[in-house]
Amino acid sequence: MSMRVYQRAAVAAIVWLGSCSPKPPQDRTTEPAPAVVPRATLAFEAVRVFDGERFIERATVLVDGDTIVAIGPDLAVPAGAERVAAEGATLLPGLFDAHTHVQGPEDLDRALVFGVTTEIDMFTLPELARQLREPQADGAAEGRADLRSAGILVTAPGGHGTEYGVPIPTLDSPSEAAAFVDARLAEGSDFIKLVYDDGSGFGMDLPTLDRDTLRAAIEAAHRRKVLAVVHVSSQHEAIEAIESGADGLAHLFLDEPPSDAFVRAAERHGIFVTDTLAVLASSCDGTRGAALAEDPRLAPWIGPVERHGLLDRFPAAERPSCEPALQSALRLHEAGVRVLASTDAPNPGTAHGVSLHDELALLVRAGLSPAAALRAATADPADVFGLEDRGRIAEGKRADLVLVDGDPSKDISATRAIRGVWKRGAALDRGLAKARVREQWAEVERARSAPPPAGLAAGLVSDFEGKELRSEFGAGWHHSTDAMIGGKSTVELAVKGGALRITGSVDGSRLPAAWAGAMFFPGEQPMRPANLAGKPTLVLRARGDGPMAVMVFTTRSGPTPAMARVEIGKQWAEHAVDLRTLVDEPYDVSGIFIGGPARAGEFELWIDDVRFR
Ligand SMILES: [Zn+2]
Repeated sequence: MSMRVYQRAAVAAIVWLGSCSPKPPQDRTTEPAPAVVPRATLAFEAVRVFDGERFIERATVLVDGDTIVAIGPDLAVPAGAERVAAEGATLLPGLFDAHTHVQGPEDLDRALVFGVTTEIDMFTLPELARQLREPQADGAAEGRADLRSAGILVTAPGGHGTEYGVPIPTLDSPSEAAAFVDARLAEGSDFIKLVYDDGSGFGMDLPTLDRDTLRAAIEAAHRRKVLAVVHVSSQHEAIEAIESGADGLAHLFLDEPPSDAFVRAAERHGIFVTDTLAVLASSCDGTRGAALAEDPRLAPWIGPVERHGLLDRFPAAERPSCEPALQSALRLHEAGVRVLASTDAPNPGTAHGVSLHDELALLVRAGLSPAAALRAATADPADVFGLEDRGRIAEGKRADLVLVDGDPSKDISATRAIRGVWKRGAALDRGLAKARVREQWAEVERARSAPPPAGLAAGLVSDFEGKELRSEFGAGWHHSTDAMIGGKSTVELAVKGGALRITGSVDGSRLPAAWAGAMFFPGEQPMRPANLAGKPTLVLRARGDGPMAVMVFTTRSGPTPAMARVEIGKQWAEHAVDLRTLVDEPYDVSGIFIGGPARAGEFELWIDDVRFR
């Protein structure tokens, strides 16, 4: 066995040195010739292993370079191998999250910190997916999780997926389905995600693909030999999607307990389901994200923006029950249908990486064994998405590994006690990740204890007397529209007759995420935090086309503002917005936007005597 290990080592080392050395070429005349040795040889000795399907109480796992080269009882450890302290620990394959939305490279960084080595994205922009995918091919993406992505989803005009303010192409007839699918594949989509959701599962009324168009698009995907995954939110949609040929469903539903007809259809068609229990639990219960954020095994790696996401909740008049989804997960699993661990991060109540650990707990709560839950996050998604190089601890597989303290076969929450993460054999520096998070929190604390901006004591921001657009403190007023994300909204700011006139037009194609208005930066520079906690209420006079949008940006919540709509009329009137109702404590306010109504077309509004109280 060890002989074979060394042969593979030599091959791996040659390939690596030849193709992807990150170091600049060295001067060969002064440097000794590079020895043919593996860049790293790791040995996990006498460790409990979950191999992707079952637990093995005691085994040795050998890694050479980026590959697992041996697993067996009491294997000899080659000389020179780094012995990883694994006593009392369990070694898992790197985890998958089979349903996320990636908005930037940092999402994949954060996923890896929590042991998620592969994310299956269910809708992002193709340009971002391309930028993230490219370095994966040559091993340059080792500090973050790998990505597979649906790219742009297939939805009807005005359907789910069009509400995020980013214009996307839509599909409205079967005859266009083949060209539509081909366009997605040309953009780089790894599979096709479709939306079959008329909103009724959540008491809404939304346009959606009709059955013929759904079927035509699924068939088009199949002709190109890629998977078709269909988003649904009710049981009848789930059954219709299965009968239309879906390979997989995105989401379980909450509207009904699973029927025999549903379970039989899923079984007969051999589908899989990205159950997204983690996000469903956030709409049902809304407290699990906070529990994750408080877990001492996870908290030191959770930064302010993630914590904000975990504590966030779906707005809901009443909380539905998650029992139907938990029952579906169990019944499908018992029928042999692959239920894939998936979170739908970063939706409210979830965050990349960390929420996968709650998803595993929810699968166990549904009635799956810990081994079945872990398989749903390792071997099964690898098989479903054709990633045969990973998802298992077996000879020849990628060394994507997570070492956790304790025994997840007895307590699934042991997956949270992460001792180490390796991607393609490279150890992640979790100490550095923790230090970065600590620094983010230190920045929050600095903002909280920072003195208020000079001038806040007097309270006045602008009375718009004089000709110039100026403010008594802060970095002043600036134009702000959705043009910064490619929109066509416009705005003009003019000081006239002792007030500020804000006129413009709202790009209807981007609603509800279109905006046009004026942004006041209370910090010394644009988007730097200002401590407004001493005078937390924004007061202004206003008139014009309402409702007026007020958005508050804080450092801790990142790019996503909190928003209030203020009803205004044709006559001047004073309005007050208590920032504490939007952002708890307004100690790190980086911008306050005041703008036009969320409806397409021209608007005109006037503001005056803007102050904090
Ligand atoms: Zn989703």
